[in-house]
Amino acid sequence: MSCSDGRQEGKPILIKTPDEIKLMQDANQIVAETLSMLLDVVEPGITTFELDRMAEDLCRKRNSTPAFKGYHGFPASLCVSLNEEVVHGIPTRKRKLKKGDILSVDFGVCYKGFYGDSAVTIPVGIISKEKYDLLHATEESLDLAIQQVVIGNRISDISKAVQDHVEKKGYSVVRQFVGHGIGSSLHEGPEIPNYIQCGQSPRLIEGMVLAIEPMVNIGTHKVKVLRDGWTVITADKKPSAHFEHSVAVTAEGPLVLSSRDKFLRP
Ligand code: MG
Ligand code: MG
Repeated sequence: MSCSDGRQEGKPILIKTPDEIKLMQDANQIVAETLSMLLDVVEPGITTFELDRMAEDLCRKRNSTPAFKGYHGFPASLCVSLNEEVVHGIPTRKRKLKKGDILSVDFGVCYKGFYGDSAVTIPVGIISKEKYDLLHATEESLDLAIQQVVIGNRISDISKAVQDHVEKKGYSVVRQFVGHGIGSSLHEGPEIPNYIQCGQSPRLIEGMVLAIEPMVNIGTHKVKVLRDGWTVITADKKPSAHFEHSVAVTAEGPLVLSSRDKFLRP
């Protein structure tokens, strides 16, 4: 789940011990397993309600609790955002996926007091080249951002990596919602915008854990929130993509806690 810009302003940046990072990895691996499962089951005809159920079931089977359910009143476990929806879409029985859709799924859990948070945009069947290119560029921008998770760099190095990459491709980054620190709360400081802001941003210190989450639009960066109070859509109704990983700052470089590598099928 992403933060509205300014929401965690002033929230402290909490440094985690190696043991806490290990727990956060456990939490994030439950999220990674869930997203891998969703990548497998998403197909035309399935409803977003069914996906929410499957995600919550797996999460509970792994002795964790869904982090988004009830968060500021969010009514489900999984955020499902279809096509022009950017983030925070609400699962429903009425919504059946169709070939050519793109579905952003964002999932978080709490395990032994620590949070995991990760997201991926999934193609439903065969999608247009326009959508495929958007997904590819957004995921690439996350990879480039993660490479900046190095002690001594600043948050702005992460922001710049995302913004430079996607704008070079002609896309825009959402400004109204940002990434965030994560730990024993879902949203901690610092804010991690996907664009350069004026002023100096915090330096990266060993033991920080960051949820980096580019939200990238084909058209305008402008978004609006639907009347349900949650679903964020692009102002021009053009498609949007969202990828997110929770990443620890370590002496050895970035440690992607929510990596799905373990769940890749041979
Ligand atoms: Mg998230
Ligand atoms: Mg998040």
